[in-house]
Amino acid sequence: MTLTSQERALVARARAFADQDLVPAAEACERDRAPDLAALRAAAGLGLTSIQIPGAQGGLGMSFAAKSEIAEALARACFGFSMAILNTHNTAWRLAKLTDNPLAQRLFPPMMAGETTGCAALTEPGAGSDFASIATRAERIPGGWRLNGAKAWITNAQHASVAICFAQTGTQGDGAGIGAFIVEADRPGFSRTPDSGTFAIHANGIGGFSLTDYEAPEEALIMEPGAAFRQIMSEINGARIYVAAMCLGMVDAALDSATAYGKSRNSFGKPLGQHQGWRWRLAGAEAELAAARALVRKAEAEHSAGEDTQLIAAQAKYVGIGLANKHIPELLHAHGASGLKADSLFSRHIAGMQAASFADGSTEIMLERIGRLARP
Ligand SMILES: Cc1cc2nc3c(=O)[nH]c(=O)nc-3n(C[C@H](O)[C@H](O)[C@H](O)COP(=O)(O)OP(=O)(O)OC[C@H]3O[C@@H](n4cnc5c(N)ncnc54)[C@H](O)[C@@H]3O)c2cc1C
Repeated sequence: MTLTSQERALVARARAFADQDLVPAAEACERDRAPDLAALRAAAGLGLTSIQIPGAQGGLGMSFAAKSEIAEALARACFGFSMAILNTHNTAWRLAKLTDNPLAQRLFPPMMAGETTGCAALTEPGAGSDFASIATRAERIPGGWRLNGAKAWITNAQHASVAICFAQTGTQGDGAGIGAFIVEADRPGFSRTPDSGTFAIHANGIGGFSLTDYEAPEEALIMEPGAAFRQIMSEINGARIYVAAMCLGMVDAALDSATAYGKSRNSFGKPLGQHQGWRWRLAGAEAELAAARALVRKAEAEHSAGEDTQLIAAQAKYVGIGLANKHIPELLHAHGASGLKADSLFSRHIAGMQAASFADGSTEIMLERIGRLARP
C-alpha cells in the first residue's frame, strides 16, 4: 500500500526522532530502570498519539499502514518505547471512536495530547495465552459495575491513567462472558502493583494493577459481553502486524550498526567489511529482512483495507519474530565483544526481540493460528 505524502512525512519524523532523541532516552530508561514520560510526551507532540484518530476529533486520520511503519521506525531505537506510545495511541483511538459515550469523550483528548497515557489490560498473573480464563470479575451493581481482580504484564501500567480492562461477567473460562471496561487510575479501588521487574525494556513501563471493589459507572462498559472477546481477538491482528514491523525495525538498525562497524574496525590488515566471511552474515540478514518486509507490507495493506487478516497477521508475526531471533544475535556477533557494551543497541534489541515473541500472542499461539487457518 502506498502511504500518502503526509503519512510518509510522519514516518520520516518518527524515524528522525528515533535515531536522534529516542536512542539516548532509551539508554537512560535502561540505566534508570524506568520509563521516560518526557519522551512519551515528545512523541505525542509529533503526532504519534493521533495517527488514526479522525481529523474531526483533532487527530490525523491516517491509515493503519502508516501506524505500523511508524512502529517500525521507533523500534529501530527501542521496542519497549514503540509499544508504549502505540498503546497510548490505541487507547485514545478506541475511546475517540465512542462518540456517544461522554466518559470516553472526556478521557481521550488529554491522552491524544500526551498529557496522560493509556493501556489495554487483558493479561493477568494467572492467565496469558489462555485469555478466556481471566479471573478478574465484573458484577452488576445499581448504576454500574463492581470490578475485582489483578492484571499483570501490561504495557504502560506503571503510569497509565486509563486502562481498557477486560473482566469476566459470567463463568470463568467462557469467552462470551468477557466484557471490556474503562478503568480510571484515580478512582477508589485501583492500585498499581510494582513494575514487573524485567531485566530490560524499561521504556515499556510494563507493570500491573489490582482492582478491589472498584466501582465503574454504566458508561464504562465499552465492549459488551458476547462481543468483547470476538472484537479484541479480531483487533489483535493489527497489533500482531505492527509487532512484526517492529522486528523489521530492530533488524534494520542492527544492520546499519554492523555495516558502520565493518567499515571502522580492522582485522588482519583490512576493514571487517572486506572479509567475505564476515560480510555474508550481513548479506543473509539483508535478504531475509527484504522477504519479511514484503510480507509485513502486504499484511499492513490488507489490514488497512479492512480485510480479515487473522492468518496473514499470524504469519507476519511468526516471520518477523523468526527474523529478529535469528539475525539480531548474529549481528551482535559481527560486532565482536563490543556488541555486548551496555550502551550498544543490542542491550535493548536482544530483550526486545524476546519480548516481541510474547507481546500480542506468543510464537506458539501464532503457529496454532496458522495451523488452523492455512489449510482448513
Ligand atoms: C513487552 C510485553 C508487553 C506486553 N503488553 C501487554 C499489554 O499491554 N496488555 C496485555 O494484556 N498483555 C501484555 N503482555 C502480555 C502478553 O500478551 C503475554 O505475555 C502473552 O499473551 C503470553 O502469555 P504469558 O506470558 O502468560 O505466557 P503463558 O501463556 O503462560 O505461556 C508460557 C509459554 O507456554 C507457551 N504456550 C502457552 N499455551 C500454549 C499452547 N496451547 N501450546 C503451545 N505452547 C503454549 C507460550 O507460547 C509460552 O512460551 C505483554 C508482554 C510483553 C512481553
